[in-house]
Amino acid sequence: MGRSVRGWGIGVLILLVLVGQAYSVFEPGQRAYVLGATMLILDIVGFVSGLRAAKRGEAALWLMIALGRLCAIGTFVALMVESVAQTHFLWWVGVSVRLGAFGFFAFAVLLAPAQRMAGRMRVGHFAETVAVVAGGFMVVWYFVINPAIVGTPASLSWIGLIGYPIGDLLMLLAVAVALLRGSIGPPTGPHALLIAGMGLYLIGDAVWSGLEAQRLMVISSPYAGLLVALGGLLMTLAPMRVRVPEKQPDRNAKPDLRWSTHLPVAAMVVGGTLMVVVTVEENDMLPWGGLVLGLITMAAAITVRQVISLRDSRDQIVTDALTGLANRTGLDEAIGRVLRRREPFALLLVDLDGFKLINDAYGHAAGDTVLTEFAHHLRGIIRGGDVAARIGGDEFAVLLTAVTSADPAGAVAQRVLGAAAANPVRLGEDSLPIRASIGLTLAVEEDTPKELLRRADVAMYQVKRAGTHGWRAYDPAMTDRRAEDAALSEDLDKALLRDQLYVLYQPIVDLDSGGRPIAVEALVRWQHPALGLVSPVQFIPIAERSGAITEIGLYVLEEACKQLAAWDRQLYVSVNLAPRQLQEPTLVLDVLSILRRTGVEPDRLVLEVTESAIVDQSAIATLATLRGHGIRIAVDDFGTGYSSLHYLTRLPVDILKVDRSFVAELNGTPEGSAITEAVIRLSHVLHLTTIAEGIETPEQAAELRQLGCGIGQGFLYARPTPGADLDFTALAERSTL
Ligand code: C2E
Ligand code: MG
Ligand code: MG
Repeated sequence: MGRSVRGWGIGVLILLVLVGQAYSVFEPGQRAYVLGATMLILDIVGFVSGLRAAKRGEAALWLMIALGRLCAIGTFVALMVESVAQTHFLWWVGVSVRLGAFGFFAFAVLLAPAQRMAGRMRVGHFAETVAVVAGGFMVVWYFVINPAIVGTPASLSWIGLIGYPIGDLLMLLAVAVALLRGSIGPPTGPHALLIAGMGLYLIGDAVWSGLEAQRLMVISSPYAGLLVALGGLLMTLAPMRVRVPEKQPDRNAKPDLRWSTHLPVAAMVVGGTLMVVVTVEENDMLPWGGLVLGLITMAAAITVRQVISLRDSRDQIVTDALTGLANRTGLDEAIGRVLRRREPFALLLVDLDGFKLINDAYGHAAGDTVLTEFAHHLRGIIRGGDVAARIGGDEFAVLLTAVTSADPAGAVAQRVLGAAAANPVRLGEDSLPIRASIGLTLAVEEDTPKELLRRADVAMYQVKRAGTHGWRAYDPAMTDRRAEDAALSEDLDKALLRDQLYVLYQPIVDLDSGGRPIAVEALVRWQHPALGLVSPVQFIPIAERSGAITEIGLYVLEEACKQLAAWDRQLYVSVNLAPRQLQEPTLVLDVLSILRRTGVEPDRLVLEVTESAIVDQSAIATLATLRGHGIRIAVDDFGTGYSSLHYLTRLPVDILKVDRSFVAELNGTPEGSAITEAVIRLSHVLHLTTIAEGIETPEQAAELRQLGCGIGQGFLYARPTPGADLDFTALAERSTL
């Protein structure tokens, strides 16, 4: 209710000013009266709403404004009475009270909340303010004070003539201080309106005084009056916009000072231009012309120098030296800016996958190359208003402006992933695809940079632990799994000692014979004392990150070899090898000693690695050495990574395992079989064996055989089973049926 009344009031005031000013254009003779009446109304409304605003908060500031308005009303009354009664005394009262109004206004603005300053910053701020006021002073001196004094014999009436412009300068001082200290707040907030209003008002008032001083009032343009009226209007609206504050303004928050730092430069341009114009106008080229020119050039050069060093030192604070993107501070500032403008935006958090591996294997220079190239892709993808930042070692963030839903942000995330994958980084002989996990979140009201990053991080971590190199949007149902994973990681360290890990075996069968087992894949399980059976999909990535995988991997290998020896059958065993294990310098020795201990021939062991494990030359060399000892290598989950085909031809491998997601797509159509068929063909050409994973139906088995894949595993034949329970004879018999 109160709000709608206030809305009406604001509308009526705006209408009043506009109609009045429009009327003045057609009736110039009435201009002074219209303006006087308008200002009186504005002053009265401004006084009342100033008092009201003072009750809601920042009492001193709004009280000053109310007092200023009261002075203005007093001036009006005094001068009205004076014009009738012709008492000189009242004229004096009017003028003095008017000067008081300027004082109150200026003082009020200085009370607006501002950034705290200290030391050199305070001196710099002082210098900037002096520059602005000096510019204003030059203008006022030439256009108002000089003509006023020159044209009138020395008298006390000078005070009336030059008092107003000095009052204007006082307000200019206050406005400059407020702008340079960042007291503006949101653009339609009370402080911004107040400061804008005072700016307009003082310019209009100075122009008015100038015209008067030069006896030009007869041809006075309507603009001076318009500026004064608009200024008065904004100053009146300002206290009406004061709401009961929801939270205390943060005095330590960094204000957005970007454009107001140009204020001193603008002042110098105004002052300099004025000097040149006056020198030319007054025909004072000799001797003043040269001196003025020299001084201006000097001042301009020094200013440029200052601005550049200012920019430099600012840039150093907000940019990342390696990539040239913004850094954490720069990102926080950018987020703060869009939050203040209340614009919708999204934040992507990008974490490179396996970066540490690359850094360790190729050295820091290579790591830097990966980071700069990735930064380059990011820069290529974002639009003008967006901000890309590097906020940690291999962590990047992208602020996407004007985004209101997750879809477009997801599209950008997808493009980032695509660009990275499509542009492998060349490191000497190798070219490494860059992979990343991306979390994204949309900004909500009352967000903070920290909270935004936290949500994006939760989403990113979901991708990370799934190991999918993709993106996800934050959803409140997501829980931050870090703590949970950390606890799991701790438990996992003890799991081996406490015998909680064991190995299951899934037969790998000959499809053509209908399912005769030819091998088994060893698959680890964890019987957690409290959580029950934990899937390797959940704990292997944790073990990988903590390093526990090395020990677990060797345990599985040893168990599998023991089991194979115990079976005493014509089988081989396939054991998964995690990327981190490939980086272990002792891997080859460890594997060979297990084979020796268990008496398993190397040609009865297959080690399965994923594409992402084979990132560097040393991993390839390790695989080649293992092969040299007669152990075969399989590429697991083939087709889900990003390895280029060219890359594959150089790898020391024997077997390609078609990922079960492709097998699941087999449905008798060419579309369904496209990828599986391509992998099988590729395998043939490279003389590799193909094994299909995840066969669940006889139709899939039939189609695979038709496509030329003779070996597979899946629930159709057998689930992962404890070694002691596997009955190979039964399996072989069933297959021949
Ligand atoms: P993987 O190496 O691709 O293993 C195949 C996975 O597919 C196994 O899941 C298996 O149970 C499942 N599977 C087999 N046939 C079918 C089927 O017909 N349908 C469906 N839906 N799934 C089928 P599991 O045992 O949960 O293992 C998951 C992954 O965990 C493995 O994928 C492997 O990457 C990793 N893993 C398991 N054991 C080890 C280990 O000892 N060391 C390492 N480094 N990783 C392991
Ligand atoms: Mg496997
Ligand atoms: Mg697999």
